[in-house]
Amino acid sequence: MGIGSRFLCVLLVLVQLTTLSGCSTEIEEHTGELFAMNTLISVQIWGSEGKSVLRETENYLYTLEQEFSTTRNGSEVNLLNDNSGEWHYLSDHLFSVLQYAHMFSLSTQGAFDPTVYPLVKAWGFTQENYRVPSEEEIQSLLTLVDVNNVSYDDENQGVFLVEGAELDFGGIAKGYAVDQLVAMYRENKVETALVSLGGNIYAYGKKIDGSLWTIGVQNPYGGGSVGSIQVENKAVITSGSYQRFFTLEGNTYSHLIDPRTGYPADSGLASVTIVCDSGIYGDCLSTALFVMGLEDSIAYHQEHQDFDGIFIDTQGDIYITPGLESTFVLAKGYQGNLQVITYGN
Ligand code: AMP
Ligand code: MG
Repeated sequence: MGIGSRFLCVLLVLVQLTTLSGCSTEIEEHTGELFAMNTLISVQIWGSEGKSVLRETENYLYTLEQEFSTTRNGSEVNLLNDNSGEWHYLSDHLFSVLQYAHMFSLSTQGAFDPTVYPLVKAWGFTQENYRVPSEEEIQSLLTLVDVNNVSYDDENQGVFLVEGAELDFGGIAKGYAVDQLVAMYRENKVETALVSLGGNIYAYGKKIDGSLWTIGVQNPYGGGSVGSIQVENKAVITSGSYQRFFTLEGNTYSHLIDPRTGYPADSGLASVTIVCDSGIYGDCLSTALFVMGLEDSIAYHQEHQDFDGIFIDTQGDIYITPGLESTFVLAKGYQGNLQVITYGN
């Protein structure tokens, strides 16, 4: 997950009273921002318990940071990674997320792989000490990158990593966090909320005026958006090579690694946005489909049909799944082509 030590425990809270037109009810809006899980997090909540829910949001993200960070000293993942070659016993959160990641990895033939960490580290993405590893180094690290290097003791939530194997939850933890927050909002009868953990958004309910949330899809090649969609109760999750990368001798290397080659994915895509019901699924999908490229993503979508996607290729052209055709609105003046995906037979 990256640089946990930069966790900044500042939650700026803004409270505002919203009076709904035509009715006398006043609903409090609570807005918070913090830096956690190596990303800027913003939360907007409308509901009577907003203040305590915001506090709980912050505490909860603290807890997850402590469990999932790869770099935070003493985090659960850190301890697990430092003790490869021995059985290690995990918290409920981590054990269930690891099992989800494992299953998902199998369903994508390893395009998504939580054991990718030795490669992420070798390319310098954990500490921003970027470098291009030698072919020999990559080949040797690839033997560690394989979910079959992880064994489980289900009864005791035990995990065994082969010596040298290490886990990275950077491609899944924020989506999981989104789901956990949404469940907590539901329990606390939050009316409506918009949470954004970096590229991981969840639009909970409708906007307070009864309309749908408008979510912009970022232009990977500049500021602003390529277009927008309108949603309610959906995760909208983006992975893009523009989100973290370095350039060396004219070549650009992104943090999205193809675990099958050991190199940053060079799949012809610049970003993938997934729209679905579950944050964890959307987070895994956006990472995996970016790595797989457009053609394999279309095949995956055709097979699964339980999500929608917006794919932007390196030419700036946009491909959307049929379920988004009626909601996707291209930004005014955007130059790329827009195409609705059809399936070849
Ligand atoms: P995301 O922004 O969700 O796409 O996650 C990107 C992060 O996931 C990277 O910064 C790495 O920590 C990790 N990662 C990179 N490549 C992969 C991969 N192929 N499978 C799983 N995790 C990955
Ligand atoms: Mg992801």
